[in-house]
Amino acid sequence: MSKERVHRFVSKDLTVRIAAVNATEVVKHMQDLQHTYPLATVAVGRSMVGAILMASQLKDGQMVGLLFRGNGALQSVYAEASYDGHVRGYTPNPQYQPPTYDNGLSLKEAIGNGTLSVARHQPFQKQPFHGTVELVSGEIGQDIAHYLHQSHQIRSLVSLGVYLDTFGKVQAAGGVLIEVMPGVEESVVEKIQQNYEEKKPNISKMLMEGASPEQLVAPFMDGIPFEELEHDKSLEYFCPCTKDRVVRALETLGEEELQDMINKNEEADVTCQICGKPYKVSVPEIQDIKNRIHKESMH
Ligand SMILES: [Zn+2]
Repeated sequence: MSKERVHRFVSKDLTVRIAAVNATEVVKHMQDLQHTYPLATVAVGRSMVGAILMASQLKDGQMVGLLFRGNGALQSVYAEASYDGHVRGYTPNPQYQPPTYDNGLSLKEAIGNGTLSVARHQPFQKQPFHGTVELVSGEIGQDIAHYLHQSHQIRSLVSLGVYLDTFGKVQAAGGVLIEVMPGVEESVVEKIQQNYEEKKPNISKMLMEGASPEQLVAPFMDGIPFEELEHDKSLEYFCPCTKDRVVRALETLGEEELQDMINKNEEADVTCQICGKPYKVSVPEIQDIKNRIHKESMH
């Protein structure tokens, strides 16, 4: 399995914190599982990278979920990552194709107008923290930056990249998250902004050229001394699905179809759409599901 991990850095004056990651393997893994076409690959891939970067700034056992919901063809894009390096991503329309690729792989139209909801789960806490903001660009990175500013008063620069080959296969994926803390010198913020505008760092291009996480960060932080922090959590595509949750998909079939399966004495195969894990559902279990929706329909 992959030995990729998030690298964390901090400016010498401790007012700028940075996370950088090469997440190529986990994004490739998502594509292999869900057979995503280019726009879905870029959307889910960038969201996964964003979630990985945000999660690295949390604490042990915590996780972050990003749900982009819009009126575009993709409808929604979800990604979730934990401080420990687990990550997964999903869109209900993995094989969406636009009429033309004239806009390249711009996500703006495919996601459309909508919202970004962020859930932060803390251990021993039933209700996760939720924050929702309007989408400002639909390109994922800027939307995350907007969320951090609106909900946490953190100014940031989020640069995410997913590079596809001519067959639409993931060749590289990664990103950089730079957050400035309260009390930062304005000259430092201006320098980062100036670096960004002058150098226009292209994450996926740098990754294709073999850049290390430190090299990904360097162009943003030119002229600002920084050092790496210890952070040793390997990335892993991980889905905590359970049979119960996956089997719930059968409820949408409706009573008639379920009865048909029972009559035919047919076991059902259900796969988790996020990780592809197969679950077998026996006829008595199908009967239970049917009974349950029957009861609910009588309320
Ligand atoms: Zn799963």
